[in-house]
Amino acid sequence: MTDFKISKIKSRWILDSRGIPTIESDVFAGKAYSRAAVPSGASTGVLEALELRDGGKAFMGKHVLKAIANVNNILGKKLVGFDVREQEIIDAEMISIDGTENKSNLGANAILSVSLAIARLASQLSEIPLFNYIYNLAYKKSRDDYLLPLPCCNIINGGEHAGNNLSIQEFMVLPVGAKTFSQAIQNVAEVYQTLKKLLLKKYGPSAINVGDEGGFAPNLNLTSEAVEIIIKAIETAGFLLGTDFVLGMDAAASEFFEEDFYNIDGRKLSEEELLEYYMDLIHEYPFKSIEDPFNEKDFRNFSNLTAKVDESIQIVDDDITVTNINILEKAIKEKAGNALLLKVNQIGSLTEAIKAARMAFDNGFNVMVSHRSGETEDTFIADLAVGLCTGQLKTGATCRSERTGKFNQLLRIEEILGENAKYPLKLNSWKDFH
Ligand code: PEP
Ligand code: MG
Repeated sequence: MTDFKISKIKSRWILDSRGIPTIESDVFAGKAYSRAAVPSGASTGVLEALELRDGGKAFMGKHVLKAIANVNNILGKKLVGFDVREQEIIDAEMISIDGTENKSNLGANAILSVSLAIARLASQLSEIPLFNYIYNLAYKKSRDDYLLPLPCCNIINGGEHAGNNLSIQEFMVLPVGAKTFSQAIQNVAEVYQTLKKLLLKKYGPSAINVGDEGGFAPNLNLTSEAVEIIIKAIETAGFLLGTDFVLGMDAAASEFFEEDFYNIDGRKLSEEELLEYYMDLIHEYPFKSIEDPFNEKDFRNFSNLTAKVDESIQIVDDDITVTNINILEKAIKEKAGNALLLKVNQIGSLTEAIKAARMAFDNGFNVMVSHRSGETEDTFIADLAVGLCTGQLKTGATCRSERTGKFNQLLRIEEILGENAKYPLKLNSWKDFH
């Protein structure tokens, strides 16, 4: 008989994609075990659950030995005997042991590493794929066909993720014309390689260096320069703008907000001017997804922009809602955005991340699962995007293994599902899947 009871938890540090330590935990049930690692952001929202770092000298204060000790000495002892299939009970227990609003005692990184490893172990012991297990957990029912996500790929990096002058953090291409996930990622990879050639030719060899999320980080100054060369890459690669590809961006505007103006493209824009700036971009180019257009406290301008744009356009809430249902509730009420960016480490447990996704869907919001700019080789979010049937995922460019690892996992899932693998044939078609 399979033993589902936790017998041991062991945590360690590993390096993330920026060479900064992060936590990884192994959860055991007898001889069987599963592992999960936690990512880390650079342009973090101020209200994210606390990522516990040691301070002091080691790794410039960024070591995670305290978080590791909290898993090994506290959670590892208190969770022995729990059944790994009881995800909600175990997550609630960890939150209660921590006892704070933002997981600042044990660390959201400590708790999340255990939470994700438990789900993975439960799926392994139940002999069902992780995405399937997550669907059952989230929706309390089962299904045969699954929606693979539209990969929203960040092929030019700016802001905090690159050493260039671009204010906008992420310039994304969305392969909406593909019929399958594998075709979609192939299309993106072709555009990415074409962009590399164009950047090299126009700006020289330093323009093809890559940023934190695998997109190129050319030293451009203007948003329009980045957009124009991406469009040229789409067309040169043989695709039709607006049909095969539409565009997305993460402005991450908190990072270029300076008290009472926004510092963008070498100009100082007021909030009204920034709103017009986005409207002009939308009119000129096929942008269908705009994330964090204003600073993270500015619900009013998120609402203003959401009201102004056509409903086919997503206004995505990241730093403003930080995957927290209490803040998401306010955003829903105020119509501040119409889509939730879902980052598991912003909230610190799988159960709470699922609750945030469900609240978003139940209130007509879209959901985009997201990586962090500091990632690991863990591919959990690929299964999460399929399991929640979000229909969209952002996990960087088709370059750097901590990014392509997630795409590669999706290729495997597509193979496992065969004819039951569906792909969003138009934006918003994911609404039928929950
Ligand atoms: C983001 O802002 O959406 C992002 C992925 O970056 P980071 O992980 O640095 O917050
Ligand atoms: Mg963001």
